[in-house]
Amino acid sequence: MAKDHVLVTGGARGIGKGVVDQLAEKDYKVTFLYKGSKDAAQELVTYWKSKGKDVGAYCCDVKDYEKVKSTVNTILEERGDIDGLVNNSGITRDSSLFLMKPEQWNDVIHTNLFGVFNVTKSLIAYFIKRKKGAIVSVASIAGLTGIAGQTNYCASKSGIIGFTKSLAMETAKYGVRVNAVAPGYIKTDMTAAINEKAKEKMYSLIPMGREGTVEEVASVVEVLLSDAASYITGQVISIDGGITA
Ligand code: NDP
Repeated sequence: MAKDHVLVTGGARGIGKGVVDQLAEKDYKVTFLYKGSKDAAQELVTYWKSKGKDVGAYCCDVKDYEKVKSTVNTILEERGDIDGLVNNSGITRDSSLFLMKPEQWNDVIHTNLFGVFNVTKSLIAYFIKRKKGAIVSVASIAGLTGIAGQTNYCASKSGIIGFTKSLAMETAKYGVRVNAVAPGYIKTDMTAAINEKAKEKMYSLIPMGREGTVEEVASVVEVLLSDAASYITGQVISIDGGITA
């Protein structure tokens, strides 16, 4: 039986790529969005096509509602029905609020929170009409606890958690499940800039004593998308080596 078709935002690198790889490996049909990583996106599509898997990519800035809407419609026309959505795109622009420029606040809220709204809003009526859909948004432990220097990022991620719980309550009766994952410290470009001393300090706070991998996030995302999670909605699953325990 053909596996579901899943749309992943920010799929060319980092956690998004981990999700694309996990789903393609498991024979899902996957379409992902990218913004700046055109070469990486093309390479990923070529790689999976060479393995006989059905993976496609579209350039789309999740901040731009009209562009997101038209891209989702194009994907539906060109790649067929969509069964699942992974809202993964996200950025950081860290600063204490005292020094934060309005652009740093706006960039993070527009990408991380409006981005989730834009893509989900473009698909939700379609999912409800089909009485089928699984949405997983990548929040963060920063949406569960405060982090000094990340008022913008924490606000965006706790916004995603509130959005997830509310939408889950709206759509449960239509067979549409809505969940989030809250990764802790995961090895990607986003965390590469953190210096060694700060990393050591962070590891000392994580019960498992290490960073997580994109594969460790992707495997949970896949479960939440699948029928293995058919009775789970409105939940936030932490993937953090125990840091929030
Ligand atoms: P990366 O910096 O490695 O990747 C960010 C991804 O977001 C890229 O694929 C990028 O696409 C995409 N993106 C950024 N802005 C836009 C935009 N405007 N439109 C479309 N896509 C965009 O980050 P991670 O992989 O680490 O992070 C992925 C998600 O996981 C984020 O939401 C992040 O907040 C969250 N997260 C990460 C943690 C970590 O420790 N790494 C911990 C908790 C949560 P492109 O390259 O094509 O521009």
